[in-house]
Amino acid sequence: MLLSKLAIVDSTLREGEQFFKSNFSTGDKVEIARALDQFGVEYIEVTSPTVSPQSYQDCKNLAQLGLQAKVLTHIRCHLEDAKIALDTGVDGINLFMGTSKLLRQFGHGKSIDEIIDIATEVITFIHQQNPQIELRFSTEDSFRSFLSDLLRVYLAINKLGIVNRFGVADTVGIATPHQVYQLIQEMRQCFSEDIEFHAHNDTGCAIANSFAAFEAGATHIDTSVLGIGERNGITPLSGLIARLYTLDPETLNRKYSLSYLQKLNQLVAEKIGLSIPFDHCIVGEAAFNHKAGVHTKAVLNNSQTYEAINPSYFDLNRSVLINHKLTGKNSIAHRAHQLGLNLETFQIQAITQTIKTLAEREKLTSENVDEILYSYKKNIG
Ligand SMILES: [Zn+2]
Repeated sequence: MLLSKLAIVDSTLREGEQFFKSNFSTGDKVEIARALDQFGVEYIEVTSPTVSPQSYQDCKNLAQLGLQAKVLTHIRCHLEDAKIALDTGVDGINLFMGTSKLLRQFGHGKSIDEIIDIATEVITFIHQQNPQIELRFSTEDSFRSFLSDLLRVYLAINKLGIVNRFGVADTVGIATPHQVYQLIQEMRQCFSEDIEFHAHNDTGCAIANSFAAFEAGATHIDTSVLGIGERNGITPLSGLIARLYTLDPETLNRKYSLSYLQKLNQLVAEKIGLSIPFDHCIVGEAAFNHKAGVHTKAVLNNSQTYEAINPSYFDLNRSVLINHKLTGKNSIAHRAHQLGLNLETFQIQAITQTIKTLAEREKLTSENVDEILYSYKKNIG
């Protein structure tokens, strides 16, 4: 699968609404949709209009914003839900239905044959009402469903020749990258329609699983900003972007406004009242900090030595930390040079030793280090 052909289906305004801290107002939704559009995601998925009168209005409103991104809504595979969704003017409808034994027994209570019948009826109805609308049919809890059941459902629906893409959902985050690769590859061999993958992060595999899906031929990957969603969420947009960056930064940079990623994450963090996690890919506070002497020396010579991602693509800066006991003479010399101080090697060595000794005893700031450098120069100058 080519990176240039991959599409991101961002679900911050659907899956993200299911996050325990989320409560987006109409204004928030518009702001987030515009920010996602500015970043350049290909699709924005919004909450089902059947949830409440306000969700119906919001869905309609978002569909009419005139965004570059296509607006989709995610609905149960019910005729009544489909009628309401059609009314909102969205570009596409994402249908889903549980196929695992657990969901069939304790959820909708339907057999595989009944699932095929219902899906056929709903899909045919939507297509008759609006042949232009983009249609996705997804199984739910796909990785706890029998492969034979999944393929029976997909192949039966595929025969209709109406659906644009088939979805696979790791609804409880139980799949491994290997399992994802195998299932998507199997589907790829059965039909040529697009394939969408939705990964939950319960076992920390969402980014790896999404990438495995892409490698096996998935054309659409679901994300949300900061990964917000049910429980601990889904594939975070920044994580997917980081993973894809390592393949081909230039193509990624042409597809998306990478320099806008930080602002987009800050906006959503603000709306949910949380800060961006320090270890979040690309946009977390720790992402481009270098500390140990061995690392800082090499990074100052060539940043690629200890960086898979260049922060400049994202309009971010790396930090070389020198105010700690792990510091080294090369980073201190680099800082002295930045400050315009001309110091001999033996002087740098002495200052480095002073900083290390002080840092063992007390917390130093980078300003403290600068003061030490200035005062040393003053005393000897
Ligand atoms: Zn989900």
